[in-house]
Amino acid sequence: MRLAAPGSSGTIGVGVENLSITYQRGRKEILALDRISVEVRQGELLVLLGPSGCGKSTLLNAVAGLLKPDEGRITIAGREVFGSKGLINVPPNGRNLGMIFQAYSLWPHMTARENVAFPLKRRGFAQRDLLPTVNAALDLVRCGPLADQYPGQLSGGQQQRVALARAIVAEPAVLLFDEPLSNLDANLRRQLRDEIAGLHNRLEFSGIYVTHDQAEALSLGTSVAVMTTARIEQIGTPQEVHNSPVSEYVAWFLGANVFDATVDSRGTVDTPFGALSSEKTIAKGPARVAIYPERLRIEPAKAGTATITLVQYKGTAVEYSVQAGNASVNVVTITSEEPLAIGDRVNVSALSRDVLVFADRGNDTTTAAVGEPGQTNGRSVGP
Ligand code: ADP
Ligand code: MG
Repeated sequence: MRLAAPGSSGTIGVGVENLSITYQRGRKEILALDRISVEVRQGELLVLLGPSGCGKSTLLNAVAGLLKPDEGRITIAGREVFGSKGLINVPPNGRNLGMIFQAYSLWPHMTARENVAFPLKRRGFAQRDLLPTVNAALDLVRCGPLADQYPGQLSGGQQQRVALARAIVAEPAVLLFDEPLSNLDANLRRQLRDEIAGLHNRLEFSGIYVTHDQAEALSLGTSVAVMTTARIEQIGTPQEVHNSPVSEYVAWFLGANVFDATVDSRGTVDTPFGALSSEKTIAKGPARVAIYPERLRIEPAKAGTATITLVQYKGTAVEYSVQAGNASVNVVTITSEEPLAIGDRVNVSALSRDVLVFADRGNDTTTAAVGEPGQTNGRSVGP
């Protein structure tokens, strides 16, 4: 089984240009996508990462043809499937794609094998090739022995594997994933995540993968697009978005501590935790600093600038909450030594390359709720 056409690397798997979508809720209009453009190259797995309500599913459903955009253009494997001012709008089953959703979506009255055979039958696949192809797809997701079971007899993880087999069996041009692991428990989630990464390495499919989980995004994506309400804030390799975030929002959503600081005329960053230096130079004045918990160091000191307020033992690491003035940060240390205790005083430091500084734009993007009131914002669903 091979999902990437030979010699097709470098071509565009999915192209999205200037896509806008508004929802009507009563008399209110909700702009769910604001002129989004993004490209998925052949063989690339693009992860859309962002808090609940930012528009991830809307974008995915538009690519799938389940939603009609207001304007813009979508291509799949070079073919226009939506565009020309809405005159072209290929229905979902004509778009040559496979989809895996969060909710287990197998047909309950069909066995695993019949579920996987369905896309092939619909395409009029030759009967004599049907069984070997279906079995190969089931084997690929290690569900061969479960072929004759009904979905009700399978665990959640097994159902998602079968759904994966059903999505890839017809060798579609593009695979779309909408939070496929969100309903699974932590261990299974990790295991299936590794398997999807393995499948991507072997089959080199082009895909778009939606998640609100930063660890999932960084480990699965060949590119990661970090979204905020209705738009993409940054797109790059996992390393680029993690190590060179373009804004405090991106750093924060990827798990960084963010706090206020002041940059003086010599470029020193004055923070509640003491003076830090940064490789990034920004104009003097109020600033925001972002530092990942794993990149902060703490040193016990009698006259330290900060105080330990919480100690959480994590097995191989210890996570501390550390406070100075009204700023609080998380610090993750990997240490075999006796952990520090609540109330201990410490000095806080970081390497200059790990101190990410941003001009203070006056609006704290890291606490602004995204989506509807009562919906979880990035803080609670993110890191
Ligand atoms: P995500 O997948 O990132 O959680 P969605 O794409 O589902 O976000 O939603 C984006 C925004 O559009 C949210 O504000 C959501 O409430 C709104 N929305 C989504 N679907 C509908 C709909 N069918 N009708 C009205 N508003 C919707
Ligand atoms: Mg969604």
